[in-house]
Amino acid sequence: MGTEQRALFIIFGGTGDLAKRKLYPSLFNLYRKGFLNENFAVIGTARRPWTDEYFQKVVTDAINSEDALAEDATQFASHFYYQSHNVNDTEHYITLRNLADKLDRKYEIGGNRMFYLAMSPRFFGTIAEHLKSQKIVTTEGYNRVIVEKPFGRDFASATELNDAIGRYFPEKDVFRIDHYLGKEMVQNILAVRFGNNLFRALWNNRYIDNIQITLSEALGVEERAGYYETAGALRDMVQNHILQIVALLTMNMPASYSEEDIRREKIYALKSLKKYTPAQVQANFIRAQYTAANGQRGYREEEKIASDSATETFVAGKLFVDNENFSGVPIYVRTGKRLSQKRSRIDIAFKTMPTNIFAPQPLGQNVLTINIEPEGKIFLQINVKQVGQGFTLKKSHLDFFPTSNGKQVFPEAYEKLFADALAGDATNFTHWEEVAYSWKFVDAIRTAWDQHDYALEEYPCGSMGPVAADKLLARDGHKWFYTGQEH
Ligand code: NAP
Repeated sequence: MGTEQRALFIIFGGTGDLAKRKLYPSLFNLYRKGFLNENFAVIGTARRPWTDEYFQKVVTDAINSEDALAEDATQFASHFYYQSHNVNDTEHYITLRNLADKLDRKYEIGGNRMFYLAMSPRFFGTIAEHLKSQKIVTTEGYNRVIVEKPFGRDFASATELNDAIGRYFPEKDVFRIDHYLGKEMVQNILAVRFGNNLFRALWNNRYIDNIQITLSEALGVEERAGYYETAGALRDMVQNHILQIVALLTMNMPASYSEEDIRREKIYALKSLKKYTPAQVQANFIRAQYTAANGQRGYREEEKIASDSATETFVAGKLFVDNENFSGVPIYVRTGKRLSQKRSRIDIAFKTMPTNIFAPQPLGQNVLTINIEPEGKIFLQINVKQVGQGFTLKKSHLDFFPTSNGKQVFPEAYEKLFADALAGDATNFTHWEEVAYSWKFVDAIRTAWDQHDYALEEYPCGSMGPVAADKLLARDGHKWFYTGQEH
């Protein structure tokens, strides 16, 4: 059971998709695991005029509990209150403060407040300002604000957004969500790297040949078309999730497993990303759009998408982290929609032996694969002797596939991140400087694409992207280890 926490959650965007799909189920799991017990309450706010009863029904429906848990779910939902509220209306914050203070007393919360901004970032500044001016922030407990992605659409807008929040909340109280950091297998990167002398010793440019990161989605833009048209794969996936994974893979060893030390090294890794000139962007980054195939529509035929849209639904690139241990190691990344499978996977390819005593038999490369999803597993490709007479080498795997009672059940990323935020631990949230360096790197690519007539490639739905993404590696004598088939 977890350590019981006291907190009042105020969720802005309480009627929204994210709240229903992720936040309420995650809070329920924390309740069942004892992180939340009697001393908590949740205020959901949004404009529509819901009653508390209706809101509680939405919450129980959202957590979709099985019959055996129905009593738990009802008890849990009784801590939920709804406040109809337009975030631009100052009067509404006064009502919100009165309700918050009342619930604080009723549940003996001690002034701890968690403000979750699950709505469009354009409202973040005004919400932060009102929370302060209308004294919804307390003096006796903590006041933490959790903000959702996207955190800006470039460095300039992210800075503006950060300043708007930072005027009222210090950096230590701002928890920027990148839900990849809450994933079990992403958190395993540090365990593998810094818990095993074997890997610690080899984790550098003397032994690592190249790194590959693939975040592929089988779905298209679905109902997010409006947002996606203005974002594209580079902003939607590379600036945050992919660069966070790059930072975890290439950061130097922190002095301790602590928020301060880990974030410091991650910031340093992101600061060390090699910045590209426009010509280097053209040579090292590929953008593409999906076209109709396998009974699926092309991107330009999707609803709410312009028929001449130039938004990329796929990106592949080669990047470098120019720190002492990683300079010279190509890091190949790719992400896209309507690819053959949904999969998030990292491959770390080690250099082959400098001498091969088994020649002319070839030696396979040692490859460490961290599969993030759909299944979480780690496997290491090694060379072994084939059983029997003679001496023939073959490739084999050492596997780690964590299960419990034969099933793989990981806590939902949001559940882990909520628990961290309640404990005041921001290790798995992105620091402003990480966001800033990531945007600076991405802005250089975006600007080159916007200012030059670089190709927008095409790929058929159900493939693993355009041929150009394969050529990017072939040029260096490499190929993607993940080919779009289940491993
Ligand atoms: P959504 O379903 O459109 O929800 C937006 C929420 O904001 C609704 O509850 C809406 O309720 C409320 N709202 C809008 N204008 C308001 C106003 N003036 N005053 C008060 N409330 C207002 O969006 P979402 O998908 O939940 O996403 C929320 C945020 O999370 C976005 O920034 C999104 O980019 C981010 N995000 C979402 C997901 C996801 O899976 N959904 C994943 C990652 C990040 P009313 O209409 O009742 O006011």
